[in-house]
Amino acid sequence: MTRDGKILDPVCDMVVDVAEQREQGLTLERPEREYAFCGPGCLERFAKDPKRYIGKVERWLAA
Ligand SMILES: [Zn+2]
Repeated sequence: MTRDGKILDPVCDMVVDVAEQREQGLTLERPEREYAFCGPGCLERFAKDPKRYIGKVERWLAA
């Protein structure tokens, strides 16, 4: 689930295009959904502590 193909990078609050970031290896697949990030730094920070960021993405998608 995304918003018109876009999703929030919850680490830096940037809205990114899921397909574009996937091509660059900047997405992370989890049971509940796929997350996308602006760069490897954000992906790494998310991967270390996903629970810290998941709620933020949920709220952004529901808004
Ligand atoms: Zn970012």
